[in-house]
Amino acid sequence: MAQIRIENVRKDFGSFTAVKSSSFTIEDGEFFMLLGPSGCGKTTTLRMMAGLELPTSGQIYIDGEEVGRKRARDRDIAFVFQMFALYPHMTVGGNISYPLKSQGMPRAEIKRRVGEVARILGIEDILTRPVGGLSGGDRQRVALGRAIVRDPKAFFMDEPLGALDAEFREHMAEELRALHDRMGATTVYVTHDQLEAMQMGDKIVVMNHGVVEQFGKPQEIYDWPATMFVAEFIGSPPMNFLAFDGAVQPGAMGVMLGDAPVTVPEAREGHSGSLALGIRPEHVRLDDRAAYRGTVIAVEYLGTTQIVTLSSRFGDIKARIASSQRVREGETTGLSFNERTVTLFNRETGQALRSAANEGVLRHG
Ligand code: ATP
Repeated sequence: MAQIRIENVRKDFGSFTAVKSSSFTIEDGEFFMLLGPSGCGKTTTLRMMAGLELPTSGQIYIDGEEVGRKRARDRDIAFVFQMFALYPHMTVGGNISYPLKSQGMPRAEIKRRVGEVARILGIEDILTRPVGGLSGGDRQRVALGRAIVRDPKAFFMDEPLGALDAEFREHMAEELRALHDRMGATTVYVTHDQLEAMQMGDKIVVMNHGVVEQFGKPQEIYDWPATMFVAEFIGSPPMNFLAFDGAVQPGAMGVMLGDAPVTVPEAREGHSGSLALGIRPEHVRLDDRAAYRGTVIAVEYLGTTQIVTLSSRFGDIKARIASSQRVREGETTGLSFNERTVTLFNRETGQALRSAANEGVLRHG
């Protein structure tokens, strides 16, 4: 078990900076997600924590000990690779026991540990089978078994479910999370899939272009995105942005979208210029009494809900509403927003504008 802390870690490859001054802490026992689009620097960050890549600057601590120059094999971390990394000519038991045999562990202890791991993973009945003919799920379990059997301080996983089809992926994601809950070992998991990160993670770091955009619990990140990038990357459909040039007037509880007032909980006077209101699709209501108007341009039926796209003066907006609500393409309607969940952004910096009270919630929540 381990707490892992990275402080101002940076990685340059020649003149290219893959990771720019990143800091965050992974608490002991957490299931921690490194999330971001391809090339954002998540694998490089994981490899630096594992000792497979040297940081250009900054510090990495495992359980309070600075490990920046410590070799990978001395950090006591297990990497779980995708299932193709198994030894195909060996049996299931052979694959799982391999790391212990190469450590020179006594046979009786190896047998005990392999038995225990097989029981945890539910693969006791296939220990003598060669891995060659196994199903994808069983191969994934064997790969996990080989990592677990060493009883390392932490597990690192780089897109471990990437090669699986959607249905099976979901099943394995549930199994991985359940396994983590049983074992309680610190797990760091790299993914570009925001749904996977939201479903599995205790905490998420969202990266973009080598920068940590936000770090927090899934719901915090969803409800209080720190930047427009995070607001768009997390959620499907992503957060709507209504772009306008304006100001937050002294004493105001909100902003004016043209002549329609919109309440914004974190509005602070003094903000002006290029602003955007961020509203999640499920927080948009089609409400004929509302002053802000939109015209329906598309309706996508999804069973219990429907996604309605409306064009409006400050930008297109998607609403997720109950399918039972009658909507016709071409009709014009009022739009109201769940005011507690609206976020105001500065469009030039991409940063959310928050009140001191909300900053407090974010820092200590
Ligand atoms: P992906 O999911 O595509 O692997 P990622 O977020 O994990 O994306 P990294 O693999 O960390 O991204 O790579 C970040 C950037 O650093 C990429 O632009 C990549 O091309 C570059 N990079 C990574 N390793 C090296 C290297 N050894 N030499 C040069 N550039 C590298």
